[in-house]
Amino acid sequence: MATVEIRNLVKQYPGAAKAAIPNANLTIDDQSFVVLVGPSGCGKSTLLRMIAGLEEISGGELLIDGQRMNDLSPKDRDIAMVFQNYALYPHMSVYENMAFGLKLRKFSKAEIDNRVRAAADILDMKELLDRKPKAMSGGQRQRVAIGRAIVREPKVFLFDEPLSNLDAKLRVQMRVEIKRLHQRLKATMVYVTHDQVEAMTMGDKIVVLKAGVIQQADSPMNLYNNP
Ligand code: ADP
Ligand code: ADP
Repeated sequence: MATVEIRNLVKQYPGAAKAAIPNANLTIDDQSFVVLVGPSGCGKSTLLRMIAGLEEISGGELLIDGQRMNDLSPKDRDIAMVFQNYALYPHMSVYENMAFGLKLRKFSKAEIDNRVRAAADILDMKELLDRKPKAMSGGQRQRVAIGRAIVREPKVFLFDEPLSNLDAKLRVQMRVEIKRLHQRLKATMVYVTHDQVEAMTMGDKIVVLKAGVIQQADSPMNLYNNP
């Protein structure tokens, strides 16, 4: 459970003429599914990476449940991110890929085992735990990447265009799976896409970004009626 507050957030890349994010303000409600949408280069990924702690912020504040997290490393944030390119370790099995982040955080073997098996169950991957990613399909790899986030039991999930490398049929299936996961885990989810249909079908709230500026933030229904 977590509310994320973005207050006067700024990102200025060194040497860039203009700020990638000049001044963003947004409240992401507890347990909501918020989709960030907009054309390539509008700052979606930058915003997400700042929330994840992968990108230094140039100004403003990020709060989770009122707690300032500007200076926390990714490891110490109660947040997990799923990347477009899956970012799996190719030489490790599915099990090891999912366990890795927990090992880093010094969880016990038994706890790791419980969590990995529970995640594999949720994602219907129990048969695949010994496989290596290179012997898996794109959809299976993306499931592993999601599993790696689930085992952390984070308050907030971040998805950076997680389905864009999948074919159309699988994309539709994974959309449904991710929404189901959202209901099941009751986590707060922030999802980046440039696909309008994905945004309209998945978001409780859609945030439209243009040149680093939030243009609109509303429910799909309200956006559809007042484009
Ligand atoms: P999106 O995810 O919407 O495609 P990005 O957040 O990747 O957009 O990029 C926003 C802007 O910041 C773009 O103008 C991009 O060129 C710039 N940018 C992104 N990453 C970097 C970086 N590492 N260094 C300099 N500029 C960057
Ligand atoms: P997780 O917490 O998701 O289990 P870990 O923290 O164990 O992952 O290790 C993965 C590390 O690699 C993290 O620091 C993560 O931020 C980083 N990482 C993974 N994929 C990417 C990527 N595509 N770009 C930047 N950093 C990445």
